Parts: sequence; C-alpha cells; structure tokens
Amino acid sequence: MLADLAWWLRHAQANGYAIPHFNTWNAEMLMGVMDAAEETRSPVIISFGTSFTGNVVFEEFAWLMRNMAEHANVPTIVHWDHGRSFDIVHNAYVHGNNAIMRDASKLPFEENVAETKRVVDYFHPRGVPVEAELGHVGDYGDYEEVLAHYQYTDPAQAAEFVERTGCDALAVAIGNIHGPYSSPPRIAHDVLEAVREAVDIPLVLHGASGIPDDDVRRAIANGVAKVNIHSELGEAAMAAIVKDTSTNYVNTQLRVRAALKQRALEKIELLGSAGHADAMPVVAGDLNRVTDGRAPTPEGLKAQ
Ligand SMILES: [Zn+2]
Repeated sequence: MLADLAWWLRHAQANGYAIPHFNTWNAEMLMGVMDAAEETRSPVIISFGTSFTGNVVFEEFAWLMRNMAEHANVPTIVHWDHGRSFDIVHNAYVHGNNAIMRDASKLPFEENVAETKRVVDYFHPRGVPVEAELGHVGDYGDYEEVLAHYQYTDPAQAAEFVERTGCDALAVAIGNIHGPYSSPPRIAHDVLEAVREAVDIPLVLHGASGIPDDDVRRAIANGVAKVNIHSELGEAAMAAIVKDTSTNYVNTQLRVRAALKQRALEKIELLGSAGHADAMPVVAGDLNRVTDGRAPTPEGLKAQ
C-alpha cells in the first residue's frame, strides 16, 4: 500500500532502523526490490530522478511505480530524488509521487532556506513530505578529489535550516558521495553526531552503495532513518548479466531480477527494516502525524 514517508521515517528513527531507498528506473529493478520488501515485510521507498530520464520516460514509468506501490502488501513510498527545481518536483507529484526531495544544496544558505521553505509550504497541505539537503553530498568522481572540496553539513546551520524550512528529513554531507567510491569512504561520524545533537528530524544518508556496513550501522544509531542505494543495484544486475550464459532473454531477465532482489535483501538486513511493515496499524499520534502510516488521501492529485 501507498505509505506516508514522514510517518515511516519517524517510526524508523524511534525504533533504531532505516527505511531503504532504492533508485528504480526499469521494471527489473522495481520488481526485484519489491520482491525483497514483500518477502521481508519491510517498508520501502522506490525512487526516480532526473539522471534516469534517458533510460525511461518518467511520465510513463511513474504510473508503474505508483501502481506497484498501491498494490504492494508492504508500505511503499513513491519518491522523487534530488529535485533540482520546483517544476521538477511538481511534475513528479502530478505523476503520482507522494514524497519528494528538493535539493537546493548548491545554492547559498539563504537561497536554500527560501527555496526549501517555498516547496514545503506548497507540498505540506497536499500531504507530501519534503526532504532537503544542507552541505553538499559529493557528486560522481574521484573520491579524494571530491573530498578535497567537500562541503560538510554545518551542524549550527542545520538547526536554523530545519527550523526555518519545516522540512521533514535532512540529507547530510558527511564524507559520502554519489556513485562508486574510488578509495575507501571516510565517514565523518563526528559531524553526524553534531548534526544529530542540533536537529531532531530524521536524517538521510545518500551514496550508501560502497559505504562499509559498520559505518552504515553507526550512522543509523546516530539518527539516519533513510539510506539511499543505487550503484549497488546496478552492480548486482551487471554481475548477473556477465555471468549469464543463456541465449534466452526471458531467462536472463529473471536472473537479473533475482540478483536485484538478493542485493535488496542484503540492504534490508543491514538497515534493520525487515518485519517493520506490520507496524502499520499502530496509532501514529505520538509520531506527529494524523495518518496511521498510510499516505493521506491524495487530494492534491485531484486538484491538479
Ligand atoms: Zn543522492
């Protein structure tokens, strides 16, 4: 069933686990991660973003994501990752996404605050939670080079940012980058702990593919409630394709889906989210939401 990201992030934070966020941009990825979530009874986030618009037409694929979320037997959030403009996240919303990230982290602080607040003010009345980013999660590239110019999240700014914007979740820059790591990642747990002290909203770890399990567990213990995974899904799919000796695409497709499921299972295990789908009936009043974990009726969708 379609689920409310804000409620589930609070639930994860309160119970010491993280919700897996999987970037999915084709049917095999979508089916593989949903197979894993269903088997383990894990809440799950399926997510799309601008970088994948060359692979599939979002405005068509979005309805497959939405449809699978609605028919799933586990709480499922349909999310837009790293929205670089209001128009982009608005387009995601009118095509059925029920949670969005507005990433204005490349703007100066005041502009990031103003833009994030504008987006929060628009989406909250429509029942859509908003993730924002402060500091800047490193872009694809040589890890050491990216780190040399890295903008870590400033804990003092984080408190002001969250208070002024009202965002539901905050992506942190703590030595993590997107894409494969060209050398072992150095996660700044001291920065994370300071941000944790400064704000009480759920935190988000981007670029988790390739971050050692112990670092991920430690981050979750320090308030990370959403962990984003993309590269490792691609690696699992590619390994299955390279190993495959079949000349029948039907069989290859099934093996790729199984490999994606297996990798998603490993991440669900790492994040500790298995079994939590059944928290759904819990009354959510103490988690600051009026819903019971399901997504609010999408009034806003009708209004569009
Ligand atoms: Zn990201």
